[in-house]
Amino acid sequence: MRIFHTIAEIREFVRQARVKGHSIGLVPTMGYLHEGHLELMRQAKKQCDTVIVSIFVNPTQFGPGEDLASYPRDLDRDAAMAEGVGVDAIFNPVAEEIYPSGYSTYVDVERITEKLCGAFRPGHFRGVATVVAKLFNIVKTDYAFFGQKDAQQVLVIKRMAADLNMEVEVITVPTVREHDGLAMSSRNVYLDPEQRQAALCLSSSLNRAAAEVGAGERNAAKIRQLVIDLIKDEPLAGIDYVEIYSYPDLEPVELIKGSALLALAVKIGRARLIDNIIL
Ligand code: AMP
Repeated sequence: MRIFHTIAEIREFVRQARVKGHSIGLVPTMGYLHEGHLELMRQAKKQCDTVIVSIFVNPTQFGPGEDLASYPRDLDRDAAMAEGVGVDAIFNPVAEEIYPSGYSTYVDVERITEKLCGAFRPGHFRGVATVVAKLFNIVKTDYAFFGQKDAQQVLVIKRMAADLNMEVEVITVPTVREHDGLAMSSRNVYLDPEQRQAALCLSSSLNRAAAEVGAGERNAAKIRQLVIDLIKDEPLAGIDYVEIYSYPDLEPVELIKGSALLALAVKIGRARLIDNIIL
């Protein structure tokens, strides 16, 4: 497995893969890899001849007061894990390589970015869309793999790729969970043992909601309130949002008929955790 830090190097690597007639798969990450990331890479390996993983803690998607400086980083560990699942190359640029002085261009996806995490993290999806657009341009990938754990993010990327006529197929990989249900996240390292236990309220409340829908409940407001009440029972948890929208359009719903996205963001200690389920 190769590790590249510059755009010129990764471009040359892609050029050589193309000469061999390889299809290219890209897995964008911020590193500090876990099983969720590895699952994206395994899917990419199944589907593509050459798999590139980007590891870049993208400053433009963090707001003031968020955890940009303290976000966990460990390139050696990440490289060993990625190599273990057969990744061909890691692209790990420094911030100045992606945003050199004078940098002025951003991608703004409208409407679907106004709700859920977009409402609580102003500018977050602008940063995400911008860096992913740049990665797509740098790697010229055929396929890109994203996790359903960040449900709104995948929708934003799909919207951007369609709107800007990008020749990339965006593939969604189901959320990978710990044995007790907690969605895997690099930010789970922020949790102490007591907070880690409290964090189970995210997945358990989603499962309760799914069970209610399975039992015939269709009233979105009732389901939403059930989830809010369950999370409020956990004293260490502070709700950012609990919302139900139609999926994938993210329109308001009163009655759950077709697919609906139940998504939540909850603060526990200094970790802001998100999770979701399709009802
Ligand atoms: P991140 O490094 O947190 O920006 O995540 C990089 C990619 O991995 C994104 O597409 C995430 O949606 C995906 N991802 C993160 N956690 C999980 C998980 N538990 N299951 C599946 N995909 C995940």
